[in-house]
Amino acid sequence: MQHYKMTIDGQGVDAEDKFAVINPAKGQHFATCALATLTHVDLAVKSARDAFPAWSQLQDSERQHLMHEIGQMLEANMPELTQLITQETGKPLNGLNGVGANMELMGSIGWSHVTADITLPVEVIQDNEEAYVQAYRKPLGVVASITPWNWPLMIAIWHVIAALRVGNTVVIKPSENSPLSTARFVELANQILPAGVLNVVTGFGDLGQALVSHDDVNKVVFTGSTETGKKIMASASGNLKRLTLELGGNDAAIVLPDVDVKAVAPQLFGAAFHNNGQTCACLKRLYVHEDIYDAICQELVVLANQVKVGDGLDNDTQLGPLQNEAQLQQVIALSASVESSEGRILAGGNRIDREGYFFEPTIVVDMKNGDALVEQEQFGPILPVIKFTDAEHGLELANDSLNGLGGSVWSANAEIATELAQRLECGTAWVNSHGDVQPDAPFGGVKQSGVGVEFGRYGLEECTSLHTLKVKKG
Ligand code: NDP
Repeated sequence: MQHYKMTIDGQGVDAEDKFAVINPAKGQHFATCALATLTHVDLAVKSARDAFPAWSQLQDSERQHLMHEIGQMLEANMPELTQLITQETGKPLNGLNGVGANMELMGSIGWSHVTADITLPVEVIQDNEEAYVQAYRKPLGVVASITPWNWPLMIAIWHVIAALRVGNTVVIKPSENSPLSTARFVELANQILPAGVLNVVTGFGDLGQALVSHDDVNKVVFTGSTETGKKIMASASGNLKRLTLELGGNDAAIVLPDVDVKAVAPQLFGAAFHNNGQTCACLKRLYVHEDIYDAICQELVVLANQVKVGDGLDNDTQLGPLQNEAQLQQVIALSASVESSEGRILAGGNRIDREGYFFEPTIVVDMKNGDALVEQEQFGPILPVIKFTDAEHGLELANDSLNGLGGSVWSANAEIATELAQRLECGTAWVNSHGDVQPDAPFGGVKQSGVGVEFGRYGLEECTSLHTLKVKKG
């Protein structure tokens, strides 16, 4: 059975203990990973601290070049990394609408190259006979990255490349549920980067806790649950760490009555069910106008019954298992909660009787705001569909949430949809699509879905502090 080590200060580092990593399609472990101690966390932070002066002073163009090299390295190692992602997450290689491990790699490569090319220019505020004043961006120091299990490599790349690009050094702690693609990525990246610039420690939440409260860490970038995000915010206060928190979403879509039902239903289904609903910006609450409610529900039921669920290593699998037992139990509990509502399960509703953490793609109609399945982020293949009477009513229901990551409006009239989308209380609003992010546009949540943004110029700025320089003349 393959064993994966950590990388600290450019060296492969093993630990006395190890933990098993489970393939959720089988419910059995297939590899082991080093179980770090708190001493490893200290060593990793120290190595990142020691590497910071030289890395931060490197020519910007040199760091750009190295980020491009990382993109090329990912491309060269695609087959190994995609296989690993599928084994540790259950995500299909190809997946529904092409959303799978191959896409995760392609996205990681794309993000590396696009982020490499973004620059943060110096702004000259004053330049006259009295003074020269400029504002420019400086790296923060050591960045701790804490990543979740749903898109382990892509989210690692989002965190790591932005931080490194502008001159920070990094210690990353992936989720214990899917640490392997990150451990391997860091090992490979260390063939490109100077020692200590990028370190990985593997293990459980206590290590994350140690990292986010470490006095020698300057910033935390975290993707995961709102609950853990709140704990991190409290732990980070000791030395006033900067924070970027990308937390849970409970994204709403509003479907207006003028849509082409047959054309729109598969797109809604894809937005809700790709990666088995285990994406922060999946569509999680579907609000449909009463005129087309039954027609949309019928189409969704057909799609749910047709979609191919199975082991992600089979090329034609569209949906895999839930990533872990706890997530499966959460979906089972939410499905059971439908009984105490007026909702009706029209497709699915049961655990699939086979090895692994499989659950039937499930469509629940006649749901209402306030029902557990609508209030809570399901993070699984079970979609509540809620009826509304007019656009304002739909908007009111969509905004009635503690979360605010993404949201969408679907209509044949882009102007009306855009006006409504602008009033959605969320970080990103889409018209006639949902959840598609890109490396040059900011992405982040409002309300309890997060603090700050990632991607593009705005994301890079969050990895820096603003430095003002004034040179008096005369
Ligand atoms: P968590 O938020 O608990 O875990 C995310 C990461 O944080 C993991 O690496 C975890 O490590 C680490 N962690 C846990 N506790 C701490 C802590 N106190 N300080 C620092 N790091 C910590 O998510 P779960 O995996 O438990 O999933 C629970 C729910 O979160 C899901 O049901 C879903 O609703 C939501 N979620 C949202 C995601 C998103 O993309 N926004 C992604 C994943 C989950 P370890 O795993 O080793 O404990």
